[in-house]
Amino acid sequence: MLPPGADAVLVRHGDVGVKSSSVQAGMERRLRDNVGAMLADRGVDGEVEREWGRVVVRTSDPDAAADAAADTFGVVSASPAVSVEPTLDAIRGALAETAREHYEGGTYAVDARRTGDHAFTSHDVNREGGDAVWYAVEDDVAPAVDLDDPDLSFFVEVRDEEAFVFLEKRDGPGGLPLGSQAPLVALVSGGIDSPVAAWTAMKRGSPVVPLYLDLGPYGGPDHLARAEETVRRLAAYAPGRDLDLRVAPAGDAVQRLAEATGRTRMLSYRRFMYRVAERVAEDVGAAGIVTGESLGQKSSQTAANFAAVDRATDLPVHRPLFALDKQEIVARARDIGTYRDSTIDVGCNQLAPRQPLTAAPLESVLADEPDALFEWADAVARDTERAEVVPA
Ligand code: ATP
Ligand code: MG
Repeated sequence: MLPPGADAVLVRHGDVGVKSSSVQAGMERRLRDNVGAMLADRGVDGEVEREWGRVVVRTSDPDAAADAAADTFGVVSASPAVSVEPTLDAIRGALAETAREHYEGGTYAVDARRTGDHAFTSHDVNREGGDAVWYAVEDDVAPAVDLDDPDLSFFVEVRDEEAFVFLEKRDGPGGLPLGSQAPLVALVSGGIDSPVAAWTAMKRGSPVVPLYLDLGPYGGPDHLARAEETVRRLAAYAPGRDLDLRVAPAGDAVQRLAEATGRTRMLSYRRFMYRVAERVAEDVGAAGIVTGESLGQKSSQTAANFAAVDRATDLPVHRPLFALDKQEIVARARDIGTYRDSTIDVGCNQLAPRQPLTAAPLESVLADEPDALFEWADAVARDTERAEVVPA
């Protein structure tokens, strides 16, 4: 719901505000730029300004601009608003107009906040603004105030130079502005988990470089297409950034690996995968690896096996879904827009031995593993190619 004459979007951020002032200023500038990029990407008109503790969009399309801001990492909520002079008169006027347009019965409250120097308090705004709403609609509806749980809230935010009146706060993803952390290589398989993991890393500020291992005969023919599709969705959250999928031709190496190994196969496969990711990370200047693994979800994802496979790389392996249940991951995937109900048999199911080890000591993994495994991985990393991704 937009107040009449809405001309702005008030953008709130969360974690950004708990940093030191110089770090906060840098984060806010980044958030301003990222909201601007999101508007541009969607063709929504708007100028983005940074104010202390807030980002404000001046726009002729506050509805679309608020949606764009609410899809930007680092944003806690966004409100399409009308901006007026920071005086009680102007605020009363805007509230009355907004009430005439949107108050159709039920209870209401005026909920004001104020920062800066004014001749009135936020309490004055609540009281006088509440009266203004009442007198504006008393002939048409039976107004009733409920300060605790109103059906309709009229929000007012008064700042030094202006005041904003608005009716809603659209939830954003929260987190930190994208680009405020170092980039990471995200292993993306096209399954349900890995896009959620990549998105979660992005949410906390790390741009990701998505990497897909093409397993040749071990992967389904449309497996790559699925990976591309999910990365297209991720790219929509990162306008102006390179999210092209890196495709590593791993079919031959995995074939040889499968022939050489038995019960420890999946662990060597993971070690191979991390090694390819490490090489790609060196190439693109990434500071770690992100996977969609979750504790205990598969035999290769036990706490003991994580300990064995992580030794394959000097880079940290980040597992944002470590402590999430499958239902929680699925719910997030639906929210993000990467969920696809798929029964396609993915590569790992064909690669997995009949009785995989759930707690393989590193020594037994190494004993079975081809000596040249990491050389294969290095070669596969060198042959990795870029598949252009157009944001969806
Ligand atoms: P997902 O739903 O992400 O496919 P999963 O539960 O099926 O995950 P696995 O197939 O064992 O689990 O893979 C674990 C993780 O390894 C994935 O989340 C992903 O990060 C990575 N991964 C698996 N296969 C590939 C692949 N072909 N290319 C790139 N990364 C992969
Ligand atoms: Mg998978």
